[in-house]
Amino acid sequence: MSLRLAGMSVLVTGSGSGLGKKITTRAASAGAFVIATDIDEDGGEEAATAAENVAEGAGGATFHPLDVTDAGAFHNLVDTVAEERGLDGIVNNAGIGHPPNLTEDVPMSTLDHILDINVRGVWNGCQAALPHLKNNADGGSIVNVASLAGFLGMPQQSAYSLTKGAVLNYTRVVAAEAGRDGVRANAVCPGIVDTPLGSQLFSSVDPEDPEAGKEKLAKQYPMGRLGEPDDVAAPTCFLLSDEASWVS
Ligand code: NAD
Repeated sequence: MSLRLAGMSVLVTGSGSGLGKKITTRAASAGAFVIATDIDEDGGEEAATAAENVAEGAGGATFHPLDVTDAGAFHNLVDTVAEERGLDGIVNNAGIGHPPNLTEDVPMSTLDHILDINVRGVWNGCQAALPHLKNNADGGSIVNVASLAGFLGMPQQSAYSLTKGAVLNYTRVVAAEAGRDGVRANAVCPGIVDTPLGSQLFSSVDPEDPEAGKEKLAKQYPMGRLGEPDDVAAPTCFLLSDEASWVS
């Protein structure tokens, strides 16, 4: 069977941990060459090395430091990648959460910080990648990592939900704007996944016993468990691939 992402060049943000790390390795194992990026250089390097080790076919990975809030650096990196090896897809995954808090108790500095990374970071990635993807003869694919918090009303996740709702609807706009040029855009909306970010919620459910909090949260899901990074990496790779050529 041919590799799902054979010959594709894909940039992933927030590769150094959790979902981004798994998306990076899974994409390389499906034959993609992955440009892994993060502000965490150790984590990002580790992800690129892990991806190299499992890469199949012409797949592989390299790491570049990137702060997604730095529009100039984002555009420069994307332009360089497009020129040197082409760009077929981008996964705007980098994101942060915040401590559980009601709207009136969220400090303005927290709001500014999370808007900058979760919203402006996705915007920067799309704006940098779109001209290159539109120029490709066979288009390209954008996957933005939103969240269930983008369409459910989750108390105490006010600023986070605001950013993920924005990502979700902005992704619809990109899909509508770029579809005629062969560019697909999709958002994945994970529930709680056991990563450094996801695990912050365990202690908010049970501050005395985070493990008990984790179990309580897991019981809310039809499968009775939380997500694993691969549960998000698999559909992300599907959305990057030609198998999803009518999914946008
Ligand atoms: P994580 O904390 O494990 O990883 C996030 C990565 O993003 C880290 O490596 C971090 O260094 C990087 N990052 C942070 N700020 C950055 C910046 N300015 N520029 C570049 N990189 C930056 O989190 P995760 O759980 O893997 O989350 C990944 C994405 O998935 C996020 O967008 C998050 O909102 C979303 N998500 C996570 C869950 C969950 O339960 N884990 C659920 C729904 C959505």
